[in-house]
Amino acid sequence: MVDSCNPASVPGAIPVTAPASGTDSSFALRVPILEYHRIVPFAQAGDSRRSLVVPPATFAAQLDVFKKAGWHTITMATLANDLQARIKPPAKTFVITIDDGWDDGYTYALPILQQDGFVATYFVIAGRIDLPGILTSAHLQALVAAGEEIGDHTMDHVRLTQQTYKQLTYQIDAAAARIAQVTGYWPESLAYPYGSVSAGVEAGVAACQGLRIAVVEKGGTAKVVVLETWANRFAVPRIEISSGTKMATLLADLGG
Ligand SMILES: [Zn+2]
Repeated sequence: MVDSCNPASVPGAIPVTAPASGTDSSFALRVPILEYHRIVPFAQAGDSRRSLVVPPATFAAQLDVFKKAGWHTITMATLANDLQARIKPPAKTFVITIDDGWDDGYTYALPILQQDGFVATYFVIAGRIDLPGILTSAHLQALVAAGEEIGDHTMDHVRLTQQTYKQLTYQIDAAAARIAQVTGYWPESLAYPYGSVSAGVEAGVAACQGLRIAVVEKGGTAKVVVLETWANRFAVPRIEISSGTKMATLLADLGG
């Protein structure tokens, strides 16, 4: 068990190469980040909360709305690069994130993403890799090979605000190192389980070498305001998507 954010602690893992930081503090991006959990038929979703489940056909239809409107995706890591280098991505750029590392992210979500030429950032719970129903090491390696990003969603999916400092750094750092061991790449982004975040938690993420951006949940889709700045890079809002989300309305709210 490696409990360190020093890239040298995982031999062979490719460290993060971040661009130089710019100096324009007024620089801000408006790149919406969609938040999914499970892409699976309801009948196969076990006792997962319904609001967290989007059946594959619905997922495909939702993404098609963005595709037909001319939108394209980048990963969270690319968004961090753009923010750091003060690069404005083209209009109609968005991010797709999929939390919790269920294996339906590989079996159902990946082929649909690929059909549209989209990529996603998968936030995986490092301590659950290879468990039944969860993405395996081989899945994660295949996702990386397909151009998807694997992000840190902590070791055990705990509320980070309720941890001691030692527990906090373990949840963030050991998870990052575990992901690097499995995928060969240091993770660059993190999602706070349950959206549980404080200034102290953000500082813990910022202290982990390689992690450069982190996301929280944002309930509902009405009056969507998405803004990424250098100052809020460790508390970036997301838009939760459910099977009932009206994508045309969402696009209109996003100005697309
Ligand atoms: Zn989660």
